[in-house]
Amino acid sequence: MIGIQLSERQEKIIDIVKSSQPITSEKIANRLKLTRATLRPDLAILTMSGILDARPKVGYFYTGKTTFGFISEKIKEIKVADRKSVPIIVDEQTSIYDGIVTMFLEDTSTIFVTSNGFLSGVVSRKDFLKNAIGGINLNNAPIAVIMTRMPNIIMTTPEESILDAAIKLIDHEIDSLPVVQEVELENGSKAYELVGRVTKTTITRLFVELGNNE
Ligand code: ADP
Repeated sequence: MIGIQLSERQEKIIDIVKSSQPITSEKIANRLKLTRATLRPDLAILTMSGILDARPKVGYFYTGKTTFGFISEKIKEIKVADRKSVPIIVDEQTSIYDGIVTMFLEDTSTIFVTSNGFLSGVVSRKDFLKNAIGGINLNNAPIAVIMTRMPNIIMTTPEESILDAAIKLIDHEIDSLPVVQEVELENGSKAYELVGRVTKTTITRLFVELGNNE
Protein backbone atom coordinates (compact mmCIF):
# COMPACT_ATOMS: atom_id res chain seq x y z
CA MET A 1 0.00 0.00 0.00
CA ILE A 2 1.66 3.16 -1.11
CA GLY A 3 1.45 6.53 0.61
CA ILE A 4 0.33 5.02 3.89
CA GLN A 5 0.81 7.52 6.69
CA LEU A 6 0.72 5.92 10.11
CA SER A 7 -0.88 7.73 13.04
CA GLU A 8 0.90 8.08 16.36
CA ARG A 9 -1.42 5.42 17.79
CA GLN A 10 -0.66 3.00 14.97
CA GLU A 11 3.06 3.50 15.57
CA LYS A 12 2.48 2.73 19.27
CA ILE A 13 0.58 -0.44 18.37
CA ILE A 14 3.49 -1.57 16.18
CA ASP A 15 5.93 -0.97 19.06
CA ILE A 16 3.76 -2.98 21.46
CA VAL A 17 3.41 -5.88 19.01
CA LYS A 18 7.14 -5.82 18.26
CA SER A 19 8.05 -6.16 21.93
CA SER A 20 5.31 -8.56 23.05
CA GLN A 21 4.31 -10.67 20.05
CA PRO A 22 2.16 -12.65 19.71
CA ILE A 23 -0.26 -10.37 21.49
CA THR A 24 -4.07 -10.25 21.43
CA SER A 25 -6.03 -7.13 20.57
CA GLU A 26 -7.40 -7.15 24.09
CA LYS A 27 -3.93 -6.90 25.58
CA ILE A 28 -2.94 -4.17 23.14
CA ALA A 29 -6.10 -2.28 24.09
CA ASN A 30 -5.27 -2.67 27.80
CA ARG A 31 -1.75 -1.38 27.30
CA LEU A 32 -3.09 1.69 25.48
CA LYS A 33 -5.99 2.12 27.93
CA LEU A 34 -8.46 2.01 25.06
CA THR A 35 -11.35 -0.27 24.11
CA ARG A 36 -10.93 -3.02 21.52
CA ALA A 37 -13.59 -1.33 19.39
CA THR A 38 -11.52 1.86 19.25
CA LEU A 39 -8.47 -0.08 18.12
CA ARG A 40 -10.27 -2.12 15.45
CA PRO A 41 -9.81 0.34 12.54
CA ASP A 42 -6.10 0.77 13.39
CA LEU A 43 -5.53 -2.97 13.53
CA ALA A 44 -7.42 -3.37 10.26
CA ILE A 45 -5.15 -0.84 8.53
CA LEU A 46 -2.01 -2.41 9.96
CA THR A 47 -2.98 -5.92 8.89
CA MET A 48 -4.31 -4.89 5.48
CA SER A 49 -1.09 -3.03 4.75
CA GLY A 50 0.86 -6.14 5.76
CA ILE A 51 2.76 -4.52 8.65
CA LEU A 52 1.02 -6.79 11.19
CA ASP A 53 -0.14 -10.33 10.72
CA ALA A 54 -3.17 -11.59 12.67
CA ARG A 55 -3.45 -15.26 13.59
CA PRO A 56 -6.79 -16.41 15.02
CA LYS A 57 -6.64 -17.35 18.71
CA VAL A 58 -2.94 -16.44 18.86
CA GLY A 59 -2.75 -12.73 18.27
CA TYR A 60 -0.83 -10.18 16.28
CA PHE A 61 2.68 -10.52 14.89
CA TYR A 62 4.98 -7.93 13.41
CA THR A 63 5.93 -8.91 9.86
CA GLY A 64 9.01 -6.73 9.61
CA LYS A 65 7.57 -4.93 6.62
CA THR A 66 7.66 -1.17 6.80
CA THR A 67 5.96 1.48 4.70
CA PHE A 68 9.34 1.98 3.02
CA GLY A 69 9.25 -1.70 2.20
CA PHE A 70 6.01 -1.15 0.31
CA ILE A 71 7.35 1.85 -1.56
CA SER A 72 10.43 -0.13 -2.54
CA GLU A 73 8.33 -3.11 -3.69
CA LYS A 74 6.20 -0.76 -5.77
CA ILE A 75 9.22 0.91 -7.39
CA LYS A 76 10.75 -2.46 -8.26
CA GLU A 77 7.58 -3.37 -10.18
CA ILE A 78 7.93 -0.35 -12.49
CA LYS A 79 9.72 -1.13 -15.74
CA VAL A 80 11.73 1.20 -17.94
CA ALA A 81 9.09 0.56 -20.64
CA ASP A 82 6.44 2.18 -18.39
CA ARG A 83 8.36 5.44 -17.97
CA LYS A 84 10.73 5.93 -20.90
CA SER A 85 10.45 9.06 -23.02
CA VAL A 86 11.33 9.89 -26.61
CA PRO A 87 15.07 10.06 -27.36
CA ILE A 88 16.64 12.96 -29.26
CA ILE A 89 18.72 11.41 -32.02
CA VAL A 90 21.14 12.71 -34.67
CA ASP A 91 23.26 10.85 -37.20
CA GLU A 92 27.05 10.58 -36.76
CA GLN A 93 27.64 12.85 -39.75
CA THR A 94 25.74 15.77 -38.17
CA SER A 95 28.04 18.74 -37.54
CA ILE A 96 28.85 19.73 -33.98
CA TYR A 97 27.18 23.08 -34.69
CA ASP A 98 23.91 21.39 -35.71
CA GLY A 99 24.19 19.15 -32.65
CA ILE A 100 24.33 22.24 -30.41
CA VAL A 101 21.31 23.73 -32.19
CA THR A 102 19.42 20.45 -31.73
CA MET A 103 20.26 20.45 -28.03
CA PHE A 104 18.77 23.94 -27.64
CA LEU A 105 15.72 23.36 -29.84
CA GLU A 106 14.84 20.06 -28.19
CA ASP A 107 15.62 21.42 -24.71
CA THR A 108 17.65 18.33 -23.84
CA SER A 109 20.96 17.81 -22.07
CA THR A 110 21.95 14.64 -23.93
CA ILE A 111 21.82 13.70 -27.59
CA PHE A 112 22.08 10.13 -28.82
CA VAL A 113 24.01 9.47 -31.99
CA THR A 114 23.31 6.72 -34.52
CA SER A 115 25.18 5.18 -37.41
CA ASN A 116 23.09 3.30 -40.00
CA GLY A 117 20.18 3.65 -37.61
CA PHE A 118 21.93 1.94 -34.67
CA LEU A 119 23.23 3.54 -31.49
CA SER A 120 26.87 4.60 -31.84
CA GLY A 121 27.36 7.37 -29.28
CA VAL A 122 26.20 9.89 -26.70
CA VAL A 123 26.94 13.62 -26.53
CA SER A 124 26.33 15.72 -23.44
CA ARG A 125 26.55 19.45 -22.72
CA LYS A 126 30.06 19.09 -21.34
CA ASP A 127 31.26 17.34 -24.51
CA PHE A 128 30.13 20.37 -26.54
CA LEU A 129 31.61 22.88 -24.11
CA LYS A 130 34.93 21.06 -23.80
CA ASN A 131 35.40 20.96 -27.56
CA ALA A 132 34.12 24.49 -28.16
CA ILE A 133 36.75 25.76 -25.70
CA GLY A 134 39.32 23.56 -27.40
CA GLY A 135 38.74 25.53 -30.62
CA ILE A 136 37.39 22.72 -32.82
CA ASN A 137 35.75 23.79 -36.10
CA LEU A 138 32.09 23.49 -35.10
CA ASN A 139 30.75 23.64 -38.66
CA ASN A 140 33.07 21.13 -40.27
CA ALA A 141 33.70 18.54 -37.58
CA PRO A 142 31.05 15.81 -37.26
CA ILE A 143 29.53 15.06 -33.90
CA ALA A 144 31.15 11.60 -34.04
CA VAL A 145 34.50 13.27 -33.20
CA ILE A 146 33.37 14.42 -29.77
CA MET A 147 30.88 11.75 -28.69
CA THR A 148 31.38 9.03 -26.09
CA ARG A 149 31.18 5.96 -28.29
CA MET A 150 30.27 2.31 -28.23
CA PRO A 151 31.12 0.04 -26.49
CA ASN A 152 31.42 2.54 -23.64
CA ILE A 153 27.75 3.51 -23.60
CA ILE A 154 25.75 2.66 -20.50
CA MET A 155 22.35 1.43 -21.66
CA THR A 156 19.07 0.12 -20.35
CA THR A 157 16.29 -2.00 -21.85
CA PRO A 158 12.48 -1.76 -21.71
CA GLU A 159 12.37 -4.86 -19.47
CA GLU A 160 14.79 -3.52 -16.86
CA SER A 161 13.33 -2.12 -13.63
CA ILE A 162 13.33 1.66 -13.34
CA LEU A 163 15.22 1.24 -10.05
CA ASP A 164 18.11 -0.53 -11.81
CA ALA A 165 18.15 2.20 -14.46
CA ALA A 166 18.28 4.89 -11.75
CA ILE A 167 21.16 3.03 -10.06
CA LYS A 168 23.08 3.15 -13.38
CA LEU A 169 22.55 6.93 -13.59
CA ILE A 170 23.95 7.34 -10.08
CA ASP A 171 26.81 4.82 -10.35
CA HIS A 172 28.09 6.23 -13.65
CA GLU A 173 27.35 9.88 -12.78
CA ILE A 174 25.48 10.52 -16.01
CA ASP A 175 22.22 12.32 -16.83
CA SER A 176 20.71 9.99 -19.36
CA LEU A 177 20.48 6.37 -20.51
CA PRO A 178 19.50 5.19 -23.98
CA VAL A 179 16.77 2.55 -23.90
CA VAL A 180 17.74 -0.05 -26.46
CA GLN A 181 16.59 -3.22 -28.12
CA GLU A 182 19.37 -5.59 -29.09
CA VAL A 183 19.37 -6.91 -32.67
CA GLU A 184 21.69 -9.40 -34.29
CA LEU A 185 23.14 -8.32 -37.63
CA GLU A 186 23.70 -10.62 -40.61
CA ASN A 187 27.40 -10.89 -39.81
CA GLY A 188 26.51 -12.13 -36.33
CA SER A 189 27.53 -8.96 -34.49
CA LYS A 190 25.17 -7.15 -32.13
CA ALA A 191 23.67 -3.71 -32.66
CA TYR A 192 21.27 -1.60 -30.64
CA GLU A 193 18.09 0.11 -31.81
CA LEU A 194 17.13 3.18 -29.83
CA VAL A 195 13.62 2.89 -28.45
CA GLY A 196 13.65 5.56 -25.73
CA ARG A 197 15.55 7.33 -23.01
CA VAL A 198 15.57 7.44 -19.22
CA THR A 199 16.91 10.66 -17.69
CA LYS A 200 17.26 12.17 -14.25
CA THR A 201 14.04 14.05 -15.03
CA THR A 202 12.26 10.71 -15.62
CA ILE A 203 13.27 9.62 -12.13
CA THR A 204 12.43 12.99 -10.52
CA ARG A 205 8.96 12.93 -12.11
CA LEU A 206 8.35 9.41 -10.81
CA PHE A 207 9.52 10.47 -7.34
CA VAL A 208 7.04 13.38 -7.34
CA GLU A 209 4.18 11.11 -8.50
CA LEU A 210 4.95 8.59 -5.76
CA GLY A 211 5.21 11.40 -3.19
CA ASN A 212 1.85 12.78 -4.31
CA ASN A 213 0.41 9.24 -4.30
CA GLU A 214 -0.79 9.65 -7.89
P1 ADP B 1 26.88 16.75 -18.55
O1 ADP B 1 27.84 16.93 -19.69
O2 ADP B 1 25.73 17.71 -18.67
O3 ADP B 1 27.56 16.74 -17.21
P2 ADP B 1 26.61 13.84 -18.29
O4 ADP B 1 27.03 13.86 -16.84
O5 ADP B 1 25.48 12.97 -18.66
O6 ADP B 1 26.21 15.29 -18.77
O7 ADP B 1 27.86 13.42 -19.19
C1 ADP B 1 29.17 13.33 -18.73
C2 ADP B 1 30.00 12.49 -19.68
O8 ADP B 1 29.47 11.17 -19.75
C3 ADP B 1 30.01 13.00 -21.13
O9 ADP B 1 31.30 12.85 -21.66
C4 ADP B 1 29.01 12.11 -21.88
O10 ADP B 1 29.37 11.90 -23.23
C5 ADP B 1 29.13 10.81 -21.09
N1 ADP B 1 27.82 10.09 -21.06
C6 ADP B 1 26.58 10.60 -20.92
N2 ADP B 1 25.65 9.64 -20.93
C7 ADP B 1 26.30 8.47 -21.10
C8 ADP B 1 25.91 7.10 -21.19
N3 ADP B 1 24.63 6.72 -21.13
N4 ADP B 1 26.88 6.16 -21.36
C9 ADP B 1 28.19 6.52 -21.42
N5 ADP B 1 28.62 7.78 -21.33
C10 ADP B 1 27.71 8.76 -21.17
